[in-house]
Amino acid sequence: MEFYRTKDGLVSKYVHNDGSETTIKHNHSCGRVLNRITGEMEETTIDKNKFSVFVSNSVGCPIGCKFCYLTAKKFPYYPLTQDQIFNNIKEALTHEAQTNPDIRKKYMKLSWMGMGDILLRPTIELVPLTAKILKWALSDYCVGRGLDGVDISTVLPYAPGWPHQIARLNDFLKDKYRLNPNNNSDRSIVRLFYSLYSADNHTRKYLIPTNMDIDTDLEIIGKFNYWYGIDVITHHVLLKDVNDSHSELTKVYNRLNKFLPLSELRFLRYNKCEDSIFEESPKFDDILKMCSSSLYKVKYQISTGSEIKAACGQFSSLDKS
Ligand code: SF4
Repeated sequence: MEFYRTKDGLVSKYVHNDGSETTIKHNHSCGRVLNRITGEMEETTIDKNKFSVFVSNSVGCPIGCKFCYLTAKKFPYYPLTQDQIFNNIKEALTHEAQTNPDIRKKYMKLSWMGMGDILLRPTIELVPLTAKILKWALSDYCVGRGLDGVDISTVLPYAPGWPHQIARLNDFLKDKYRLNPNNNSDRSIVRLFYSLYSADNHTRKYLIPTNMDIDTDLEIIGKFNYWYGIDVITHHVLLKDVNDSHSELTKVYNRLNKFLPLSELRFLRYNKCEDSIFEESPKFDDILKMCSSSLYKVKYQISTGSEIKAACGQFSSLDKS
């Protein structure tokens, strides 16, 4: 296993012998939001006493998003078994707890946001595997004082049965662990992060070759949110001259208002890796203001360190420790 850590000590990346990565982040929840009274953009920082573990279920990723560093670097793809996934998390968390014992006082978030899309893996039993990981981490090895939540990121390729699995996982985790008191009490334990990237089918197909019709996706997710009460957050990256025009953003908030009126739209940073053909949009604040005045909740996520290179919690270059 190789181990890397950012200079500020807030991000650790573990590259396992099978080539997959586990990333652990300790940074506070940071964002940039519109103050609706002053009309100005403001940075927000909240210390929720948590750390996040970004789990990979494969080496590389079969989705092939054009802006992702896994695609730019032509990472090969092969899926991991449940045992490999479990052992990789054990390996990373054991090392992290030894080198950074403070995490034992924090609440753990498990993020299925590493390499691969977990909802694409019908052979992975999401509920038993997540339960096994959390039992080992929180009950047996006591790596954290409780559970912050479980986040699942997806571009929602055709994957039958996922709504029931996620709802079952959320129900299963109720009353199982001490939950982070710093979270809103009405928040679901499991949250779904849907990767939007464009509200135009043509542009989205260009950015995410493996996807479905955007309205079909949003209708399914909207019903899922309504029926099961699972929080949905929409991830979006703004790319210069690709998806940052006024008409494109108008489509984004019109569709979200129609299908997911009470959900959050979250813009992620895009840090270009050397082989990427994309640039981050220079119009962030303007777009944020425009969307904030039209949507229920909008946030621009500030991630720690310029080393962060892609969505899905992955990092391409960090200092080796
Ligand atoms: S952004 Fe996420 S879903 Fe897309 S290729 Fe990268 S890891 Fe896969």
